[in-house]
Amino acid sequence: MRTIEQWVGGQPFYGDPAGRIPVENPATGDVIAELLEASPADLDDAVRVAAEAQKEWARTPLAKRTAMMFTMRELVLAHEDELARAIVTEHGKDYSDAVGEIQRGRETLDFACGIGSTLRGDYSFDVSAGIDVHSIRQPLGVVAGICPFNFPVMVPMWMHPLAIMTGNSFILKPAAQTPSASLIIARLYREAGLPDGVFNVVSGERDIVAHILTHPGIDAISFVGSTPVAHIVRDTATAHGKRVQALGGANNHAIVLPDADLEFAATHISAAAFGAAGERCMALPIVVTVGGIGNELVDRIAHHAKKIRVGDGMDEGVDMGPVISATARQRIIALVDEAERDGARVVLDGRGLVVEGREGGHFLGPTIVTGVSTDSTLYHQEVFGPVLTVLEVDTYEDAIDLVNASPFGNGAAIFTNDGGMARRFTLEVEAGMVGVNVPIPTPVAYYSFGGWKESLLGDRHIHGPEGVSFYTRAKVITTRWPDAGAHGATMSFRRDE
Ligand code: NAD
Repeated sequence: MRTIEQWVGGQPFYGDPAGRIPVENPATGDVIAELLEASPADLDDAVRVAAEAQKEWARTPLAKRTAMMFTMRELVLAHEDELARAIVTEHGKDYSDAVGEIQRGRETLDFACGIGSTLRGDYSFDVSAGIDVHSIRQPLGVVAGICPFNFPVMVPMWMHPLAIMTGNSFILKPAAQTPSASLIIARLYREAGLPDGVFNVVSGERDIVAHILTHPGIDAISFVGSTPVAHIVRDTATAHGKRVQALGGANNHAIVLPDADLEFAATHISAAAFGAAGERCMALPIVVTVGGIGNELVDRIAHHAKKIRVGDGMDEGVDMGPVISATARQRIIALVDEAERDGARVVLDGRGLVVEGREGGHFLGPTIVTGVSTDSTLYHQEVFGPVLTVLEVDTYEDAIDLVNASPFGNGAAIFTNDGGMARRFTLEVEAGMVGVNVPIPTPVAYYSFGGWKESLLGDRHIHGPEGVSFYTRAKVITTRWPDAGAHGATMSFRRDE
C-alpha cells in the first residue's frame, strides 16, 4: 500500500503521525493509498520550519521571487499530465476536466509572476513642508490554507502563489480524500528553487485543522470548503487573533427568461449542472424558468444530459466521473428520494446507474427534478452531485426574489437576449459572481473570486488583487530630511502651517 507522506522543510516528512487515513479511487471504490495524519507535534515542526524560512524569504528580492515563480509556472505546465492523473485517481473527475482545473489554477501563477504591479505602494511628495509619505505592503508571516476535496490543484493554487510571492511561508492542509497533487506541487516548488520550508504540506482531517486554527505561530488562514466548517474556521481562528478568509458552500441559481435562446441555454445548463458530477462550488444545481418555458427547456436539457457518458475519468470519451464517496452517493440519492416522495417529478433519473466493469465505483447519472417545493431539503441543501432542480415562476420579479432568498450567494446567472433585463439582474442579484448567458461565471485570476452571504465569511475575496491584500499588511511611512526645506519642530498637529 502506497503511503502519502507530508512535506516539511523541502522534503517528504513522516514525523510522528497520529494515524493513517485510507485514500480511495472513487471510480473503483478501491483503497489505493494511506495518508499520514499529522499529529500536533508534526504541525509544531512545520510551523517552526516555516517561520524560520520566512525571515529570509521575506527579504529575498522581488526579481528573484518572480524568477522562481516563472520557473514554477513552466514546471506545472510540464507536469500537467502527472497532476491530472493524481486528480482523476483520487477525485474521479474526467481527465479533460482535471486538465482544465490545472489550467484555471495556473492563471493564478501567471498573475503571481506579475505581482510587482499589484504589490507596489503609493508615494506622496511634499504633503507638508519637506515631508513625503509612502506606503508599502509587507507579508504576514506564516499562513495556512485549508482546502476542499473537489479541486485538489486549483483551490490551493488560488492561495499559495500569492501567499509565497508576497513573502510569506505557506502551510497547506489538503483534503484527506485528494492529497497527492499537493505533494507534486511541493516537489515542483523545490525544483523551481523555492527555499526549503517556505511551502509545506500537513495532512489530516478535523483534528489537525483544530490545531492549525489555534496555533500561535500561524498568522492567517485561507479556507475553502463547506459553510458549516467555514463558520468553525472563521469563529475559532479569529478568536485566536488570526486574519481569516473562509469561502463556504453554494447553491447557485440561473434564471432563464422567455426571450432567451433556449437551445443555447440548455446546452450550457446541462454542462454546468453535470460537469465534474456537480461537485463544483460554481456548479449550477437550480434553474428558475420564467413565463411558461419550463417544459420546453427541461426537454432540451434532458436531451443533452442523456448524451453524457459516465465512467472512470481516465477512460477515453468519458464526460463525467463518479461522486467522491459511497456516503456522498447515498446522501444525494436520499435527497432525490425524499423530494420524489413529497411530489416532485424525476424527469431524468440517474440514481440506478451502474458502470460496467466499475461496479464498485460511486457513480450517479445526470438527474433532473421538476415540481420541487422550495421547502424541500433538495432545494435548500447544497446537493454537490449531478442533480438539477428546475423551478417555474411567472415573472422576473418572482425569480429574482427566489434567487435572493437563498442564504448562499456564490454565483448566479441569467439567460436572456434582453440587455436591459440582463443589466437589471446584474445590479439586483445578491451574489459575488454573476454571469450573463454564462452559467459558471468563475472570474479570471486577475479579478478576485468570492461569494456573498453564507458563501464567504470574512471581507476579502480570494486570489487576484484582494488575495494580495489578504496576505499582506499595510505600512505608511512619513519621511523628512533635515536640510530639504523642513520647518523647525512645532507642538501643533497642523499640516498647513
Ligand atoms: P469540507 O468543509 O467538508 O472540508 C473542507 C476542509 O475542511 C477539508 O480540508 C477538511 O479536512 C476540513 N474539515 C472538514 N470538517 C471539518 C471540521 N468539522 N472541522 C475542521 N475542519 C474540517 O468540504 P469538502 O466536502 O471537502 O468540499 C466541498 C465543499 O466545499 C462544498 O460545500 C463546496 O461548495 C465547497 N467549496 C467552495 C468553494 C468556494 O470557492 N466557495 C470552492 C470549492 C469548494
